[in-house]
Amino acid sequence: MLFDYHLHSQFSADSEMTMDQLCQAAVKLGLDEIAITDHHDIDYQDDTIEFLIDKKEYLKEIEKFQQKYKKQIKIKKGIEIGLQPHIYKECRKYISDDFDFVIGSFHTAEHADLYNGDFFAGYSQWEAYIQYLKSVLEVVQNYDDYSVIGHLDIIRRYGDFETQPELLKNKEAFDLIKQILKVIINKNRGLEVNTSGYRIDGKNPLPSFEILKLYHQLGGEILTIGSDSHNIEDITKKFDYTISRLKEIGFNQLTTFAHLEPKFHKI
Ligand SMILES: [Zn+2]
Ligand SMILES: [Zn+2]
Repeated sequence: MLFDYHLHSQFSADSEMTMDQLCQAAVKLGLDEIAITDHHDIDYQDDTIEFLIDKKEYLKEIEKFQQKYKKQIKIKKGIEIGLQPHIYKECRKYISDDFDFVIGSFHTAEHADLYNGDFFAGYSQWEAYIQYLKSVLEVVQNYDDYSVIGHLDIIRRYGDFETQPELLKNKEAFDLIKQILKVIINKNRGLEVNTSGYRIDGKNPLPSFEILKLYHQLGGEILTIGSDSHNIEDITKKFDYTISRLKEIGFNQLTTFAHLEPKFHKI
């Protein structure tokens, strides 16, 4: 089974792929299944761009292509929802089992945007990393309406720092990440391996292999793989390499979802 569980169509303000182009490309690559996971970021902190999706219209559009390509590929109704502590209620309301799969992602922390750099103002590199992890922990302790946490250590990308120290080498970061992973595991939620991470230093997905190793050691089993593609070229990029590394770590299955229920596939 070959699947890509993190793909953005034109419903995301930062993607130019039509849903049709995306599905066609996935069929061409021989994928068995994809999840379309466009952005829904409630109260996003950068006013110059809006990441909100009309759910009804979006799901209807996915259904159209489920029909069109039903003989070639399974297309799942996913969403990538931006999580923040002050919008739990709104996020819960938006998520329903109309969706097959929900990526809970952090694009902001402490009411500040990560992508445009606002969050980092006034923090040193490690202060920013630690504050980010604290806010992730707070969310996973209090909010459950997601399937997997997206690109857990995304902070490494947006910090734009020249060096990328291994987060787990810092005692405070290690303790926070361990707590985050334990909460996710105890609540039967999962992690995604996001291969867009290689665009940072070429060596690791998001989260890093070190963090994935820790997740495995702690008993984590729910794991999806996604390219976070905003264009056709990135779909399934480096998947073979990533899956072989996951096997080395000890994972022997990957997860897909239907109506928010996990399904496991041997790798
Ligand atoms: Zn994201
Ligand atoms: Zn994404």
